[in-house]
Amino acid sequence: MKFTISTKKVHPYRKAFTPLLTALFLIAGVTGIEAAEYDPNSKVYCDALWFRVHAGDCPELILKEEKKTMTLEEADKAGARLGESGQSGRTNCCLMGYNRKYPVMEIPDDAFGVAQVMKKGPLKWHLSGCHRFVPKSNYARLTKKEALDSGCRICDHCVERGPSNSIISDEGWKLLPSDNSAPMAGREPTAFSADRLPSPQEIEFLIQETLAQSNGIQERHYVDPVASVENFMTLRFFFPVHNWLDFYKAYRATGDKRILHKLRESARNYDKLSVAYPSAARLKASDPEGLAYMYSMAAYSRIIMQSGKKDINSITVDELKEAESMIQTMVFILKPICEGDDNLEPEMGIPHGLADDFRSRAFNRALNGIGTLAMLTAALEDLQAVTDSQEYQPTIDRYRKVVGEYIKHWFSIGHICTKLRNGEGYFYPYSQGGGDIPEVNGCRLYGRSEDVGHYSHSLQGVMLLYETLPELGIDDGFMTAVANTIYYNATTKIKVKGKNMLSGYVDCPTQARENPTTGGHLKGGSAANARFYMLQAFRDDMIDGLCDRVSRQKAAELNAGFEQRLATLHAFYMKALRADRSLIHLGEKM
Ligand SMILES: [Zn+2]
Ligand SMILES: [Zn+2]
Ligand SMILES: [Zn+2]
Repeated sequence: MKFTISTKKVHPYRKAFTPLLTALFLIAGVTGIEAAEYDPNSKVYCDALWFRVHAGDCPELILKEEKKTMTLEEADKAGARLGESGQSGRTNCCLMGYNRKYPVMEIPDDAFGVAQVMKKGPLKWHLSGCHRFVPKSNYARLTKKEALDSGCRICDHCVERGPSNSIISDEGWKLLPSDNSAPMAGREPTAFSADRLPSPQEIEFLIQETLAQSNGIQERHYVDPVASVENFMTLRFFFPVHNWLDFYKAYRATGDKRILHKLRESARNYDKLSVAYPSAARLKASDPEGLAYMYSMAAYSRIIMQSGKKDINSITVDELKEAESMIQTMVFILKPICEGDDNLEPEMGIPHGLADDFRSRAFNRALNGIGTLAMLTAALEDLQAVTDSQEYQPTIDRYRKVVGEYIKHWFSIGHICTKLRNGEGYFYPYSQGGGDIPEVNGCRLYGRSEDVGHYSHSLQGVMLLYETLPELGIDDGFMTAVANTIYYNATTKIKVKGKNMLSGYVDCPTQARENPTTGGHLKGGSAANARFYMLQAFRDDMIDGLCDRVSRQKAAELNAGFEQRLATLHAFYMKALRADRSLIHLGEKM
């Protein structure tokens, strides 16, 4: 039974509009959706994080063997949420059409939660698993009653989602970021030049700022570890995670080992999770969006292997062993997803699940996962060089095939555009509509071009492909086309609905003339978008172009920001990498 009337759609008004809901169910009856019959004695599985139960065949049910069970009737009576999933419980995953006989349980007064400090107004109390806030280790932990008595507001999403079965452990609490981390007192950094390397002092200060950031561990750690895994399963890693990206770029830009160890801390966390809960990890990694959870593992182990290949004395035996073990974990997790010949899609020659996903998922949601797989591929190649073996060659060949097919597919939808003033550009749509894409003058016209923000996220995955497997198409020429594209977008006003403006969508000149993207028009994107600064390595005027719309003074202010300084320094690494493909970090050139 696929289709169901979801109570979620009417959710915030669920209580007030029960009669409406009843009416909807009646309509549902008329249109053929019957309340389903369920055996009250059938076994259901209780989640560890939220008070939700699932049927045994629910697709969202993970770690079944670890879960408490009860009968459906017992769960109903206890007030459990039945067959709800998602961050707010707005999706139905199973037990659809079940008519509950008892009310759902509200959050009890003695439930233990966290008071979020708001920009203004009273504190907001949440259960610690709530997706609407990031708990900080300096926040107060208290019960709902204590919160109400002290004037806190209660989070609406928490009320909607209902009670929790676990709380963050004391160890987990220490992993959380804090608002109290020491600010860089007394320092007022200035913008880095795009032409001249900053001084060693300025670089050291940037390193200190990077090290002052919290760790790259994304899920919360609960008293019940299964709850931590459930929290992990709801996370999305595709943009990619800010800290991972900062640590990665900062390491490439400086070679500082302490930063590499920040990446390792996160890598160890995900390695441990994957080894302890492989079935959940496999479910997460089964598409390129979730696969990006391995980003810090792949980045760290690649850097170690790359270093070992260049100079075996630059890494310790323990580092080599640990990185090898992480690589083996990733290969093990990805085995049923990427390997095997039983279910190959004939056109792409890769597993069906991946091929189908490649054709449907928005590119910006897949590219960081594809980039992660490319890093793993390069790590395996380096590992083989270090250990002088061919053991992983079939796996390497398959990963290369998967990454190559993805790029080929992306290129078959996007287009290299020759209509820019200086050189070629690369344009692609936000989502894949399927069907024929109209062409005018050799340009493809999309229903909605990629927007600037998502283009910048995609670029972070593209960067990994450029660094690791450029022979598959993401080479100097392609990166230059991307740089030309973003430069054009940042500096050329187009006419949208009669107004000349910088577009928030990356429309090519033909698209801009024939059919500019207007859907909920984004204003031109912010100046000084640091995610594009790496393109300075492919166009000397890139950073200037990205700041073209603001005054010089404003640009200097923006470029003094941490992200901008880091990205400017990282652009030097990218430029040096172009000249020396074996370069591991910019520190080698300093
Ligand atoms: Zn379910
Ligand atoms: Zn909340
Ligand atoms: Zn074009």
